[in-house]
Amino acid sequence: MDIHYDAIIIGAGMAGLTAARKIAEAGKKVAVLSRGLGTTNMSTGAIDLLGYAQNKLVLNPEDEIRNLIRTSPKHPYAILGNGDDKKALEIVKDSIKDFLKITNMAYVGDTAQNIVLSNYFGTYRPSCIIPLTMRHGNLLELTDAKLMAVGVRGYAEFNAKFFAKSLHYVVNSFLRQTTTNEVVPKEITIPSLGKDKDITSIEIAEALDTEEAFSRFLEQLKELITEVDVDAVVVPAILGYKNWVKNHTILEKELGVPVFECLSLPPSVPGQRLQQILENAANDIGVEIHRGLQVLSAHIENNECKTLETVSDIYRQTFKADVYVLASGSFIAEGLYFDGNKFYEPVFNLPVHRDNRNNFSERRLESGNHRIAFAGIQVNQAMKPIAQNGDVLTNLFAAGSILANYDYISEKSGLGVALTTGYLAGVNANNSL
Ligand SMILES: Cc1cc2nc3c(=O)[nH]c(=O)nc-3n(C[C@H](O)[C@H](O)[C@H](O)COP(=O)(O)OP(=O)(O)OC[C@H]3O[C@@H](n4cnc5c(N)ncnc54)[C@H](O)[C@@H]3O)c2cc1C
Repeated sequence: MDIHYDAIIIGAGMAGLTAARKIAEAGKKVAVLSRGLGTTNMSTGAIDLLGYAQNKLVLNPEDEIRNLIRTSPKHPYAILGNGDDKKALEIVKDSIKDFLKITNMAYVGDTAQNIVLSNYFGTYRPSCIIPLTMRHGNLLELTDAKLMAVGVRGYAEFNAKFFAKSLHYVVNSFLRQTTTNEVVPKEITIPSLGKDKDITSIEIAEALDTEEAFSRFLEQLKELITEVDVDAVVVPAILGYKNWVKNHTILEKELGVPVFECLSLPPSVPGQRLQQILENAANDIGVEIHRGLQVLSAHIENNECKTLETVSDIYRQTFKADVYVLASGSFIAEGLYFDGNKFYEPVFNLPVHRDNRNNFSERRLESGNHRIAFAGIQVNQAMKPIAQNGDVLTNLFAAGSILANYDYISEKSGLGVALTTGYLAGVNANNSL
């Protein structure tokens, strides 16, 4: 049976769930259709706004976004304010304020300041709006500090000894600080897992949500901290799914020093927590999230989207709404395809904008600033995509990593662009109803 909604969102990542929430907050009936988990779930959970500009580390994202809007008028941040940097920054700030509210103080950050965080390899990444559990991990403030890096026996992804060596080298060489820091590697066990090899971050985080495993974890850390005098403790991103904030608060209180999680690789517990925060917030205001459902095609008449055809493991279904938001992600989430010759946007058959100067198939292995990263769909200032005939579809909006003209990998702006464009697409879609 056809189901009619006020708005349908394609994609359940940062962009789609943010847009869905903005429309549902206005009392509208909203559905999110999602084939599966996208890159939001894989991310480190830290929201990058703008980490690099002209290959230089950005310390104040607000200032650099202003510059970017002047120098790259097609960048999604420029589209936010239709070229007006003040308006764009207002939307950036509003969307972040809105996001921070749904995290219930589990995230912190300031759009005028990047925080330089370390990852499992001891290298670093500038980010802006970050989980509370990472706030004491700003490497720029830890150059004099003596740190203890604590790994878990059997959890091979985070090797405390390697991390310690690498972090020490990275901080002193690349961040070009004059002082040195010291990192002492240690290891603990999680006895309740009943094994001492092939342990995953997911298993540890689930275990640390239980009181028993967490208290054993805490006991061991307390013992370690009496052996060495340190200024802060760094752990991999494992502090739980449900109790991560509470566990972190207890650790800092009981150990008497700052404790921080570092950025992890997929599968990333903080990325999964972020996905959960976004889904819970959408559910709480009545958004229906339909998982395992792929949107195959759209039925369009006179530049208006009428219905969506979907397929799941079990059946095909038609969905109908007054307005639609396309937030199906980029190549990894399969919102876009590239077969070596041709780019596709599979649902609406929107033209995929790209830089024609490059032969993508010959430059497949090029690293950093690869022009394929700029490929995507183009939108007008209302966040409406431009169709093949050059017109816009009157009731379609788009947001997130499906957008063209920016490279989130080299400039470190992924979740920032998804959040801010998702917010604006949601607001505009709602206003059009
Ligand atoms: C490994 C990795 C780590 C990253 N780490 C960070 C980080 O630490 N900080 C940061 O700021 N950025 C990071 N990024 C970038 C960031 O994750 C993305 O830019 C951002 O999550 C994109 O959000 P989105 O909502 O646009 O898309 P996604 O989160 O990818 O969501 C797309 C959604 O669309 C759905 N979908 C696609 N096609 C269809 C269809 N036909 N029908 C139904 N559903 C469909 C997908 O299933 C998915 O639910 C990282 C990216 C990767 C790959």
